Amino acid sequence: MSFSSLGVSPVLVSALTALKYEKPYPIQEQAIPAILKKKDVLGIAQTGSGKTASYVLPILMGLEGKNTGGGRSINTLVLVPTRELAMQVEEVFSSFGTNLRYNFKSMAVHGGVSINPQMKSMFNVNVLVATPGRLLELYRANAVKFDNIDTLVLDEADKMLNLGFKDEMDRIFSLLPKKRQNLLFSATLSPDVQNIERLLLDKPVVINVAPKALSVDLIQQVAYSVTDERKGPLLRYLIKENEMKQVLVFTSSIYQADLVADKLKKNGINARAIHGKKSQGSRNESLITFKNGSLNVLVATDLLARGIDIEFLPYVINYELPRSPKDFIHRIGRTGRAENPGKAITLVTKEDEHHFKVIQKKMKKQVDRLESDDLKLHGH
Ligand code: AMP
Repeated sequence: MSFSSLGVSPVLVSALTALKYEKPYPIQEQAIPAILKKKDVLGIAQTGSGKTASYVLPILMGLEGKNTGGGRSINTLVLVPTRELAMQVEEVFSSFGTNLRYNFKSMAVHGGVSINPQMKSMFNVNVLVATPGRLLELYRANAVKFDNIDTLVLDEADKMLNLGFKDEMDRIFSLLPKKRQNLLFSATLSPDVQNIERLLLDKPVVINVAPKALSVDLIQQVAYSVTDERKGPLLRYLIKENEMKQVLVFTSSIYQADLVADKLKKNGINARAIHGKKSQGSRNESLITFKNGSLNVLVATDLLARGIDIEFLPYVINYELPRSPKDFIHRIGRTGRAENPGKAITLVTKEDEHHFKVIQKKMKKQVDRLESDDLKLHGH
């Protein structure tokens, strides 16, 4: 199966080749032809499945020859839950859209940064990738017009609902033209997502590429029993002994993320914290440097981890357990991306034991346990 045989245009096939997309992923094989036929699509797929390209490519093809309406009108609206995802998705649009025969413009808008530059740049935009709150602010300020929208994408719909965007999404749906193509992607089909599906989609093509406990089985997992006092030294020991060059460390609070990153830095380890209280500039820089390999350790809270897409992440360390087993699976799944297995290490204190048992039960996997008592952590 090739991209051409799915109906992808030659100019986009060259862009794909340049970006080393050799053949379509399963979601792309199924979604691209359906979207080109203007069907509504429900994709059950996670980040890492290749879902972004599965809608970006046919949308770019569909825009050819279309009247944008100009000015502040847009053709395609992509709603996403986080700033990071907004930027990532927009990047895929702009990297594929460089050599098109028409003037293509995509833009990402999200909160946490000043609205003025976004208002100023909102001209002749074909594809707008937005978080719901900021989109509504721009709409209220007359900076964006919805009348020409004929394609709506909801990416990571389940997370949008988890993050409490339901009211804003409903408001946006009520403002959009009724006749349009709807594409909905979600990692899970929760009852909330099903409600949105019923509301939005018309006889959708359903594509399910959700991994069947795949990531969990692929990931090599170990857990260390450790006391609270020895957690910091153990973390530094693990990073140094394993010569970890790229590791995502999870904490359960912003306060801990800062504390852990500071301690690592004081011990000569190249680390930064990323969380909701950091400025957008700092978050961007952390992500860019972590992705390009110049930052070794990123200490993150669960919310921020959602937007992080790295093709191959060799290590994840759970410095603290998350409250929900789902988040645990989401965290360790960061190492099982694009079929590359990685290693997940979890630090478990006595107080965590019961909760960790629950997590393992939900995950349907018993994690190998190592004792940290015998490790020589002195000097770490
Ligand atoms: P996504 O699920 O859209 O976030 O994509 C996950 C990762 O897979 C991204 O880094 C993409 O660049 C990459 N990717 C998507 N489709 C392909 C493909 N057909 N071949 C190679 N890489 C791909």
